[in-house]
Amino acid sequence: MAIATSLQCGDALVIVDVQNDFLDPGPVPVPQGADILPVLADYAARFERHGLPVYAVRDWHPARHASFLPRGGSWPEHCVRFTAGADCPSELELPPCTVTISIGEGTDELRVSAFANPHFEASLRTRGVRRLFVGGLAVDDGICETVRDARSRGFEVFFLRDALRVREREAGDGDRAEAEMIRLGAVPLTALDLSQRAPSSGALLTDLFEIGMLQAYFAAGMTDTAVFEFAVRRMPAGRNVLIACGLEPVLQFLEELHFTDWELDWLERTRRFAPGFLASLRGLRFTGDVDALPEGTPCFPHEPLLRVTAPIAQAQLVETRVTNLLHYCTLIASKAVRCVAAAEGRMLVDVGLRRAHGAEAAVLASRACYLAGFTATSDALAAQQFGLPSWGTMSRSFVEAHASEEAAFLAFVRAEPQRAVLLLNTHDARAAAHTVVRLAPAWSAAGVVLGGVRLDGGDLGPTSREVRAILDAGGLSSLRIFASDHLDEVVIGRLIRQGAPIDGFGLGTLLVTSADVPFLDCDYRLQRYAGRGCTPPAEGQGAWPGVKQVYRLRDSSGRMDCDVVARADESHEGEALLVPAMREGRRIGCGETLLALRQRVATELDRLPPRLRQVGDAEPYPVYLSERLHADCLEAGVFAGVGSGLTASPAPLRGETAGS
Ligand code: ZN
Repeated sequence: MAIATSLQCGDALVIVDVQNDFLDPGPVPVPQGADILPVLADYAARFERHGLPVYAVRDWHPARHASFLPRGGSWPEHCVRFTAGADCPSELELPPCTVTISIGEGTDELRVSAFANPHFEASLRTRGVRRLFVGGLAVDDGICETVRDARSRGFEVFFLRDALRVREREAGDGDRAEAEMIRLGAVPLTALDLSQRAPSSGALLTDLFEIGMLQAYFAAGMTDTAVFEFAVRRMPAGRNVLIACGLEPVLQFLEELHFTDWELDWLERTRRFAPGFLASLRGLRFTGDVDALPEGTPCFPHEPLLRVTAPIAQAQLVETRVTNLLHYCTLIASKAVRCVAAAEGRMLVDVGLRRAHGAEAAVLASRACYLAGFTATSDALAAQQFGLPSWGTMSRSFVEAHASEEAAFLAFVRAEPQRAVLLLNTHDARAAAHTVVRLAPAWSAAGVVLGGVRLDGGDLGPTSREVRAILDAGGLSSLRIFASDHLDEVVIGRLIRQGAPIDGFGLGTLLVTSADVPFLDCDYRLQRYAGRGCTPPAEGQGAWPGVKQVYRLRDSSGRMDCDVVARADESHEGEALLVPAMREGRRIGCGETLLALRQRVATELDRLPPRLRQVGDAEPYPVYLSERLHADCLEAGVFAGVGSGLTASPAPLRGETAGS
């Protein structure tokens, strides 16, 4: 029964009897005792970093103790005070803050519990300790007795199963000791259960192999400039256009990129990295350039959304996180614009926080949805962080907590008299609507302005019509009807075609998981290193080689005609979509407001060929290669594996069809 916990104020580490005489070749060796030394050292370092106390409890006998064999006792001479045998082994590397508690000093009695020394409890109380994390060498009953005394004095106790070794006088002593500690209410724990809550810089938000590659670049002296591009490789079925999103969080990540001492300390303890390499990470910052499609730009497969130009270590290290951010944000923005199109101007609220795949995903989804044209979010953190409009109603549990629906409504409008949206009972929305009509005049007289009612589930089409009729007949025609319950663009489109009088929709699970298209086939690919093109594999992937620019060609009214992907070193007619976003690690300009991004999405979607704005699959938008890029592709053999590459791509080539 392990539990996950994190270190907090009031925690203390207690290391029991880790002394030379209890380690091989001492007189009373605990088998495999030395194995726990690095583990304990790691625990001690963590407690020290959190500013938490560390105690080393030691056996500390007078010479010729009564328990020693020469005086008729049962123990070989051990841990005689002021001898090397009584010292902690140097490998333990106890932090300077460690408080040593000596047990057995000046007495012939056998004392084993750490609490036998009154200074121990006094120190714990003085320092406000409430939870003890106990590990070490169990030579006799020392650890068990310490746990017993700690529990009887009201301390919570965790015993560190990965930092505990038992000297068994009889087989099974170890298991019995553990069972006894559990019986006493102590909780077994390993370092894995103890989450690392040290503040993260985000630099470790990468695959460890990226850092491994950095070490290899470092060893080989590879420090030249690399150019990586992030692009989506093919349009998934069910999407006609993608909306570039996630640049702002990427730039923020790059600006803040650095390793903290704790992160470097951890890397060192993995024993995978050489000291010289780790020293090179200490001052690492992102000093490169970023060119990108502005957020909210409609885009298509093969078009780079972002280009990173930086010393290869930096450009490589950020691969994982840059991909992680751009992929998810673009995925959700591309889903959300479909919902906006389907809703035809009706209010849309993202309510996906509780079902999103993680909290960060939920917050980024709220941002992407707002950018795509959503009205508001239910997510308080996203509203606070990005200044998004927030919106919410009541839940079923609020109604159920009251004696009646009527009582719940009353309590709610009293608390929120200016914008209350009342949840109508799913099983009898008609009756609930009648209740609202009956109560509304009194509320109105009391100055209450209702925001609307919400239908959650049931057959939304017929139910919304019935509820609308009841509200209208009751003089509440200004009251709006909101609907939620497993909605997506397809359901919303169907409801609207059926004429359902719904004024706003709350979208959750299907939106923030992009349930119909849960991922995009995308990558962050090296295009150039040290001035040399990095040719992609000829077979299968169909990735267009080289450093590229995207040109968008429009008709006289601004409507999008087609895109041309060209080499970055050639110029082409049309509007160059990749624009500088960062130079030498510093942002260009002060960034765009979310409102401006939202406006871009709305404007640019209007300029898409109309077929691409619909929810159903449409003939793909034409994306061409420039003549020179086409020649590069031929030379690189990109089209050799055309079966799995271009035929699946919506991108025709200039003057020929894909795959011909
Ligand atoms: Zn002893």
